[in-house]
Amino acid sequence: MAVVSAAARSWVRGADRSGFGLGHLPYGSFLDGAGGGARLGVRIGEFVCDLAASVDAGALGGLSDAENAALRSPNLNALMALGRPAWRSVRACVKRALGDGERSDRSAVLLAVDEVKIALPFTPADYIDGYASREHTEHLGQLFRPDEDPLPANWLHLPVGYHGRAGTVVVSGTEIIRPRGQSSPDNGDPPPFGPTAKLDIEVELGFINALDTPLGFSVPVRAVGEHIFGIVLVNDWSARDIQSWEYRPLGPFLGKSFATSIAAWVTPIDAVEHLRVHGPKQDPPVLDYLTRTEPWNFDLQIQVWLTPSGGQSELISTTNPKNLYWDAAQQLAHATINGAALRTGDMHATGTISGTAHRTEGSLIELTRDGQQPLSLNDGAQRTYLQDGDNVRLTATALDAHGQPLTLGPVEGTIKPPS
Ligand code: MN
Repeated sequence: MAVVSAAARSWVRGADRSGFGLGHLPYGSFLDGAGGGARLGVRIGEFVCDLAASVDAGALGGLSDAENAALRSPNLNALMALGRPAWRSVRACVKRALGDGERSDRSAVLLAVDEVKIALPFTPADYIDGYASREHTEHLGQLFRPDEDPLPANWLHLPVGYHGRAGTVVVSGTEIIRPRGQSSPDNGDPPPFGPTAKLDIEVELGFINALDTPLGFSVPVRAVGEHIFGIVLVNDWSARDIQSWEYRPLGPFLGKSFATSIAAWVTPIDAVEHLRVHGPKQDPPVLDYLTRTEPWNFDLQIQVWLTPSGGQSELISTTNPKNLYWDAAQQLAHATINGAALRTGDMHATGTISGTAHRTEGSLIELTRDGQQPLSLNDGAQRTYLQDGDNVRLTATALDAHGQPLTLGPVEGTIKPPS
């Protein structure tokens, strides 16, 4: 086993190879059960570093008053709003405090992660969802419009998106209640109504916007790094039967808005700089305001795990956002090119991340060809869409800048029947 370099070693037991070592340090919000409100924390191994308590203990010296105040706030919003220099100084300070040799009577304060209650890591402001994967777009086009070009006429010219529902963005672990709604009628009949029969997942990566911008301002592609604080895994739950009946002419509505799950831990961009890659060559060339200036795709192995009620967890798909046609910077630049203002806590997500091969698709509608080719599970059961009691867990792995494992905060949810 490779020796962990001194710069990468933490005094926290088990942290170095846990996926949550010194090279990662994602932020989350937690309640400790003692009756106080939510507090901001940093994940280190199987622990949460309580930032407010660590400031009070003198473990995080040298920060400004504004930075200390942000670390005493309930979630990431205040720190994000301070901007990139503050993100970097706080990250360096936390890294120093958790580094090897820094344990003392003024040590950072740790709580076991399984003894705290996890909250949303930031207050979602607006939520935009994209359609950035060419493979996903083509798969759906081939399923539903087999006689047409699978790419809509606009698709190669702009990163397609829609405004989702920020109020139903929920933290990992939140139960997902199967939504009810209308679906397509047979000829002349009234539309059927009831619990969705086509409850699906969408494997996505979310980008958290840190800064307010004024109306009329557009974020240029080259400045996106000043605005995006970090990334989270996203499962954008979708009810395909509700969606297919309602989506013309204005796009997704109730088939998407019942819940969108995000991970509890926001990975700072500074922790994944080394994973940034360019997306594929774009042909035809894009307009000037969408021209890439730096790599804004991320090379991460994302795994999709399905666990039937009482059953074994099973890997059903593996995908990677590195090949997305439209990158995160292009999405944010496009979302503001009309002068739409941004707020701290806005999230924009990639849309479903799919590859070309079978078992690299990021949704069940693709994995099962809309239920025509069910997945066979190890216990002999089959799945087209999700059943009540199913749990879906998304994980993502890479190496950190020190060569140690880095795992994004997982996002999971279990399906419950409507009451
Ligand atoms: Mn989506």
